This record gives sequence, C-alpha cells and structure tokens, in this order.
Amino acid sequence: EPFIEKISILHEESIIIGFNLTKYMIRDIILNIPVSTYALITDSNIASIYLENLSNQFKNLASKLSLSKGNNTVPQRFISYAIPPGEQSKSSDTKADIEDFLLSQACTRDTCIIAFGGGVIRDLVGFVAATFMRGVPFVQVTTTLLAMVDSSIGGKTAVDTPHGKNLIGAFWQPKRIYIDIIYLESLPERQFINGMAEVIKTAAIWKESDFVILENKVASIRDAVLNPKKDIPFQGATLETRTPSQSLLLSVIRSSAEFKAYVVTHDEKESGLRGLLNLEAELARSLGHLNQVAIGRLVRCLESYGLPISLDDKNIRKFVGNRRCPVDKLMEIMKVDKKNIGDKKRIVILSGIGKTLEQKATFVADSAIRKVLSP
Ligand code: NAD
Repeated sequence: EPFIEKISILHEESIIIGFNLTKYMIRDIILNIPVSTYALITDSNIASIYLENLSNQFKNLASKLSLSKGNNTVPQRFISYAIPPGEQSKSSDTKADIEDFLLSQACTRDTCIIAFGGGVIRDLVGFVAATFMRGVPFVQVTTTLLAMVDSSIGGKTAVDTPHGKNLIGAFWQPKRIYIDIIYLESLPERQFINGMAEVIKTAAIWKESDFVILENKVASIRDAVLNPKKDIPFQGATLETRTPSQSLLLSVIRSSAEFKAYVVTHDEKESGLRGLLNLEAELARSLGHLNQVAIGRLVRCLESYGLPISLDDKNIRKFVGNRRCPVDKLMEIMKVDKKNIGDKKRIVILSGIGKTLEQKATFVADSAIRKVLSP
C-alpha cells in the first residue's frame, strides 16, 4: 500500500496525493469507474518517458482483476494516443484529432478518458471528455507542478483560439485527480519554477505559515526536484525511505492543492472567492494596504526560486526582446478580464503575507492601476 492522502473537493474525496501511486491508481480506476474502454491521452514528451510502463501495468492489472471477478465481466481494453507537446496543441484542431482517434477506435459512452500530463493535456482532454458523446467520465493524472497545484483543480477545461487563450471550454469535473510526485523527477527546471510561482502566490494570499516554510526551506524544496538523491530516487521512495526534502515538497504541494480545493468547493463557477487567485502586490502597496516589509519578503521569496520580479530580468528580456507593451494597451487588455464587472476592474489586494483586503477581488479605479503600471 503506497502512502496516500485524500483531499475533498465539491464534497467528494476525489484528489489523491502521494508517492508511487501507479498501482493504487490503476486498481482504483478499474474498480470504481468500471467501463469497457480506458482511453489515455498524453503528449509525446510524457509518452516517451512513462507510457510503456503505465500501459503494461494497466493491462496486467485489468486482466488480473477481471479473472478474479469470473468470466461474466465485460472485457476491458486500454488504448492510448499522444499529441505533440506545447500550448499550440490546446486547439480545436487537436481536439478534433483526439475525437477522431476515439471514434476510429469505436469508443462509445462507455469510455473513461485518462488525461495524463500537465495543464495543456488537462484543459484540452478535459474538454474532449466534456463533449465526447455529450460527456464521458475522465480522470487526471498530473505530471507538472503547475497542474498539481493549480490547473488540475477546479473543473475548468478549454482550448485556445486565435482570438485568445481559454476562450472555448466547459466546466467538467474529473472523477479523480491523482497527484503523484514521482512525475516531478523528470520535470524540466523551467517547468518546476513555473509551478513554484503558483505555490508562492497561494501561500501569500492564504497562509503565512506556509509562506514562512517557502522562505526558509528554499534549498530543500529545490533539491527535492532538481537534485533528487541518487540513492533514493522518487521512483523508489516510500513512506519510510523518502527524504526529508521529498516529504517537505509533498506537504507544500498538498497545502496548495487543499487551498484550491477549498476555494472551488465554495465557489465552483467563480463568482467571488475564486477571483482571489489573482493578486497584485505593487498595487496594494500604492493604495496603502501593504507595507514595504511584505513586498520585500515576496520579492525575495520569488527570486530565491529563480522567478523574475521585474521586466529587466534577463529571461524576460530574452523572450520579450525590445518589444514593449504601452500602458494604454495593457489597460485595454485588462478590460476583458473575466473578473471585471461591467467596465469596473477587480484585482486581489494583498493586505499582508497570508491576508487579502477582502475575501474576493476588490474594485480598483483605472487611475490607480495606471499609476503602478507606468514605468
Ligand atoms: P504543459 O502541460 O504544456 O507542460 C509543460 C511541458 O512539460 C510540456 O512540454 C510537457 O510535455 C512537459 N512535461 C510535463 N510533465 C512532464 C514530466 N513529468 N516530465 C517531463 N516533461 C514533462 O504546461 P503546464 O504548465 O502544466 O500547463 C499550462 C497550461 O495550463 C496552460 O495552457 C494554462 O492555460 C493551463 N492552466 C489551466 C488552469 C485551469 O484552471 N484549468 C489553471 C492554470 C493553468
């Protein structure tokens, strides 16, 4: 039995978190979501590392379990499909490719879709599940830190369009979300840092005690992912053998995931609380709600995990080059933020580490936003 914990979301204990969950997960899926076809969709990066092993284990366990149930059970099959990695795949075209694959394999409503990957796979494959045969069950197996602490939780699915990101989609809750931190072992550093931004933001708006851990344990948390001990790799880690850094990483991820689950449970369709997940610290300072000490802590913490804190950062420069976005253009873009009500902009205002001014985004005058955005 691996080490697992369950987090409840929308009154169901459907988030399962731990180390080395593969066997537990396959059993759980086969026993609790009994269908004739399990269709796993992933991207080719993840497929090249994990698919063969996962697919073998799935097939073995499925045949063992159906043998133990006698001959009357419907045979269960496992099929898989890999799409190209990257945000470009989060499109209507790739959605249609996946649907064509499922149809070519004669999948019916009696199908459970397994989204195996990061946020791109999650959003895209979740949307396929929401509309295939008017909706089929799906589970998520998260493989990036961002997906573990953010994008997997909340039931939002979407594709991008040339007019913008995430514009077409649906709310469709997965039956299970598996957060198995063994997958972080192969995650590129940049992807780890990306996920840490979300972890730090969550602690900053919600729980000072978590923020203090992030401030004090930088080396340990980074090492767990970037320099896993050669003698105890994630793949072999159990409750007894895992390193203190691995345990710490797991608790940090759990705390972030719990917060998301709490927010989604209390505000599934994003009316108030869910808007909390976007904050603007400089604006809070300029409005007099946040002091310099808190800003300093936030900046230092972000920097210590390798995150940029200004437009002059060398990585930002590398991506942006000499292009500049004038304040007028930014104000224009912010007009279509979904947190706005009418033409009034709403932004989460931090009032201290672990605290926000309101339990939701606050109305802010355009002039105040303009002031902090101006160089
Ligand atoms: P991603 O899914 O593109 O993954 C990043 C890269 O890492 C990919 O190249 C992938 O192949 C690779 N990868 C993934 N797991 C790996 C592993 N274990 N080992 C090695 N390589 C691995 O990116 P992401 O950052 O997870 O997700 C970003 C997407 O999530 C965006 O489209 C964003 O809009 C979406 N998102 C959605 C929500 C939501 O609420 N639905 C919230 C936040 C973000």
